[in-house]
Amino acid sequence: MSETSAAKIETVVVDGLALAESLRDEMAREIEAIVASGRRPPQLTVVLVGDDPASRSYIKGKQRACARIGAAAAEYLLPESTSQKELLDLIERLNRDDGVDGILVQLPLPKHISPEAVAEAIDPAKDVDALHPLNFGRLLLGNAKLVSCTPLGVLAVLDRHGVPLAGAHAVVIGRSNIVGKPVSILLQQRNATVTMCHSKTRDLAALCRSADVLVAAVGSPRMVKADWIKPGAAVMDVGVSEVDGKLVGDVDFDAAIGRAGIITPSRRGIGPMTITMLLRNTLTAYALRFPTPDPTPEPAPESSSDASRDASTDRKSSAPTTAAPPAGPKA
Ligand code: NAP
Repeated sequence: MSETSAAKIETVVVDGLALAESLRDEMAREIEAIVASGRRPPQLTVVLVGDDPASRSYIKGKQRACARIGAAAAEYLLPESTSQKELLDLIERLNRDDGVDGILVQLPLPKHISPEAVAEAIDPAKDVDALHPLNFGRLLLGNAKLVSCTPLGVLAVLDRHGVPLAGAHAVVIGRSNIVGKPVSILLQQRNATVTMCHSKTRDLAALCRSADVLVAAVGSPRMVKADWIKPGAAVMDVGVSEVDGKLVGDVDFDAAIGRAGIITPSRRGIGPMTITMLLRNTLTAYALRFPTPDPTPEPAPESSSDASRDASTDRKSSAPTTAAPPAGPKA
């Protein structure tokens, strides 16, 4: 649609919560099947250092989300005074614990603890936030197993709404390791032409105006104005700021209605999808460490000898009833 078109656009407001719920239903069924097969459910362990109220509320949300799909969850609430060594020792214990599939250390950390040291300490096979350099490198190489949750959530929203990505111009504002960089890489891998923007980008508004897909991940309330949005564009507003006690996104949401083709609101938008992708990563980490045993093949009609029947029975009876040990060395 051209910019001068008089036709008002019917903007689709993404219901991230409804989408998250439908994905959680799918995961609940997967876990039901795992448990029905005699194996334990996937387990997520969350570690919080300090007593930041927002972080406490996030980890409570994560625990509730685990319970909702039948995943097991554990939390470690450590005092602000915890040393980096104490935290790294705990991570090492969790790395060695076969009953732990996903480890998430809630950010931000107190100033005396290096987030890089923490990211590097987590076993890449349990790194559900996907911040370990190995997982980041794999993402760049195009063979990622675990990808950070918010970018996965953005891609899931775009896919569920059928937004074409191949050949589209995607503009990403923000280049953090947790959102901007990984979402840019994922979009490029889906054949979008990606422009990555940041605080030093010149004429951001003009770049945004040429975006078919615009991802804003800055944390600057309502910085993206309606006239920065190409009519009909898909606008993924990741930013969350609090203004006068209200959650506000990076995009001027009210003004963008009638201009954007689809848009995520600051509440019930990308947020619920982020937690959902954390659950997905926990299931992925579990599946990678404990692959589902191959279903026992039906005996072929021509091989009805006693020997082949016995072999088939053996395979059935040797199927693990509890989780098997890790399939191989750490990733
Ligand atoms: P971050 O690490 O602070 O990164 C912010 C990025 O924005 C930086 O790359 C920065 O550029 C860029 N930036 C700052 N001012 C800018 C400007 N005027 N023009 C263009 N770019 C500018 O933040 P983050 O962790 O990626 O998070 C971004 C926002 O998303 C925050 O509001 C956060 O709360 C929210 N978030 C939401 C979810 C969710 O689930 N909804 C998940 C994660 C994050 P430089 O690199 O040049 O400094």
